[in-house]
Amino acid sequence: MKTIAILGSTGSIGTQTLEVARANGDIRIAALAAGRNIKMLEQQIREFRPRIAAVWEEKDAKQLRIAVADLPVEILSGMDGLKAVAVCEESQILVTAIVGMIGILPTIEGIKAGKDIALANKETLVTAGHIIMPLAKKHHVQILPVDSEHSAIFQSLNGEEGKRIEKILLTASGGPFRGKTWDELQNVQLEDALKHPNWAMGQKITIDSASMVNKGLEVMEARWLFGTELDQIQVVIQPQSVIHSMVQFTDGAVIAQLGTPDMKLPIQYALYYPHRRFLAGERLDFAKLGRITFEDPDLDTFKGLAYAFEAAKMGGSMPTVFNAANERAVSKFLNRSIKFTEIYDIIRYCMDTHHVIENPDVQQILDTEQSVYELIEGRW
Ligand code: NDP
Repeated sequence: MKTIAILGSTGSIGTQTLEVARANGDIRIAALAAGRNIKMLEQQIREFRPRIAAVWEEKDAKQLRIAVADLPVEILSGMDGLKAVAVCEESQILVTAIVGMIGILPTIEGIKAGKDIALANKETLVTAGHIIMPLAKKHHVQILPVDSEHSAIFQSLNGEEGKRIEKILLTASGGPFRGKTWDELQNVQLEDALKHPNWAMGQKITIDSASMVNKGLEVMEARWLFGTELDQIQVVIQPQSVIHSMVQFTDGAVIAQLGTPDMKLPIQYALYYPHRRFLAGERLDFAKLGRITFEDPDLDTFKGLAYAFEAAKMGGSMPTVFNAANERAVSKFLNRSIKFTEIYDIIRYCMDTHHVIENPDVQQILDTEQSVYELIEGRW
């Protein structure tokens, strides 16, 4: 029996984690945290009977306390609630399926409490990788990647020595706008950006996939997770999303992980690592697939990826600026208050305005995030 806690249980990754728990039958859910979807959280509490549940707003917590008054569950709110879920005594693994930089502090608390981290929340490593990785080492906890690309790399490295990595080949579908020119990108609509060709995901990451900012965030994440240099990471467009990523070793061998696009695979792999379990679902049919194709990314059009490499190279607080600027820009695009290519303009402006802080601590990271939001509010 494994016991886990989930931050972001009502989202795309959170609900799929619960599907994995339901299908396996030997995962106990000790604690759940969600943002505002208290209806779904109530159903989850009734089905999985966690000891603790948390929501963001205290007014939602009050409502939920009344709704589940018949059950022995403690309902908490705010950052204290997220932290309580993260350190919940019974849990062995903390699944960080919350979206945004709000995931950093509870993840740190979870690590300090000795929980292995099944990491979906990209923002944690993108902005605070230099803090998280040494902290995990100090507390002897594993960071188990949930992102499909990082899970593929993790699986490809199984039984290999990390220092024999020559190159990480991070694959990308290219998103719904692959092949478009810069001029064509000017008039794309929200509905088009939300139509990912292969994956069903939360709204924020779906837009990030369309802009290829997501791939940039993944490059930064991979660098921390696998301890490689930036120039050892190459993004390869592979539109069918069949190869989830590859590792090239010093002898020239390339090992890849392939499969149908289903996030339950990397989620389950992280929860049961190093064991593999049965997972129902479609299998790859290579004859039907016919071919797998590859391209270089178009960095002139999908500027978000170029900016991400630049931010990662500059290091310090710059990845936080890149991430926060994008986070706010995407929420504006989702509200239809800016056009798609303005996401890139906002990131560029914020990066150009920022003076890098070397080795920022958590408070400096969070202050940088705030200052980026303020900078954007005055202009867009
Ligand atoms: P969703 O938008 O689907 O879900 C986000 C979750 O976070 C929801 O449960 C939401 O709660 C919760 N949440 C948001 N704000 C708060 C808050 N203030 N307090 C508590 N909970 C909060 O996102 P995804 O599942 O798509 O993504 C989650 C993370 O995983 C992201 O960092 C993403 O980049 C990463 N990821 C996602 C993948 C995917 O396939 N979806 C793949 C790889 C990585 P509520 O809905 O109740 O408001």
